[in-house]
Amino acid sequence: MAMQYPEQIWFNGKIMPWRDATVHVMAHAIHYGSSVFEGIRAYDTPEGAAVFRLTDHLKRLYLSAKIYDLPIPYTLDELIQGTRDVIKANGLGKCYIRPVAFRGLGGFGLSADCPTDVAIAAWPMGEYLGHAVTETGIDAMVSSWQRFAPNTIPAGAKAGGNYLSGQLIAREARRLGFGEGIALASTGLLSEGAGENLFLVMNGELHTTPVSAALLNGITRNTIITLAKANGYTVVERDLPREYLYLCDELFMCGTAAEITPIKTVDGKPVGNGERGPITAQIQKLYFDLVQGRAPDPHGWRERV
Ligand code: PMP
Repeated sequence: MAMQYPEQIWFNGKIMPWRDATVHVMAHAIHYGSSVFEGIRAYDTPEGAAVFRLTDHLKRLYLSAKIYDLPIPYTLDELIQGTRDVIKANGLGKCYIRPVAFRGLGGFGLSADCPTDVAIAAWPMGEYLGHAVTETGIDAMVSSWQRFAPNTIPAGAKAGGNYLSGQLIAREARRLGFGEGIALASTGLLSEGAGENLFLVMNGELHTTPVSAALLNGITRNTIITLAKANGYTVVERDLPREYLYLCDELFMCGTAAEITPIKTVDGKPVGNGERGPITAQIQKLYFDLVQGRAPDPHGWRERV
């Protein structure tokens, strides 16, 4: 289905019509993947729309930019305000928000000091991996593509170029009829999904792969670790071999877009009994109650629009 574009966008400091926010075809980022970005969600809550962990996402944007020496010519407060402005300008409540900063037009060399362009878009978005999948779960496969090796492309930056890897993993999975692909690191150990971190449930404990396994240190991952620990779960960050995907009791993916999506099968083998497990369901409840304003927010993560 074609995307319905929103009317307004924030581009280089101002709200403007969506169609006017254009860049030159010779912009550096188009050729070399030199962009950093974020994916953020706002939810309707009883107190009005709230952006979940907006400040933490934007801080990660600056850290991704730092790795690539990409100056962002706006302050954190300006980007927070820009996010609020673009949500309001489009009359949105629940939505997905995409800030992106990239090297624009200004030189063709790899190390050219091009001016940085910055945009913030927001649009309505439901479930990322398909209708009702947060309840029904998805079928996943282990990708034939591995993630980047250490000290090649930094997985800890959320940079445009990294998503060539993500596209290979996601497109292979879709082509073969799976809901999502799970990648191994160059070590052969488990890494993460094309755009999601992984949690395995074993003997009532939550196990998640470590940042050394070529993954993005997800904010949803951090939220789940925080919620699970506060609710008495043991959470272990550890290297995990592939076969634990087949041995674990429950398995789910998480990310801002994917939220918490149970995995029913991996490579055609059922995970547990092949349905969303009870611990996954409980973690989902804790998460959705928090983001949708039904639970207390001790960390101030719901940031009002
Ligand atoms: N890994 C990758 C590769 C991602 O693109 C994302 C989504 N940003 C995640 C993990 C999850 O990160 P977060 O929870 O911060 O959205």
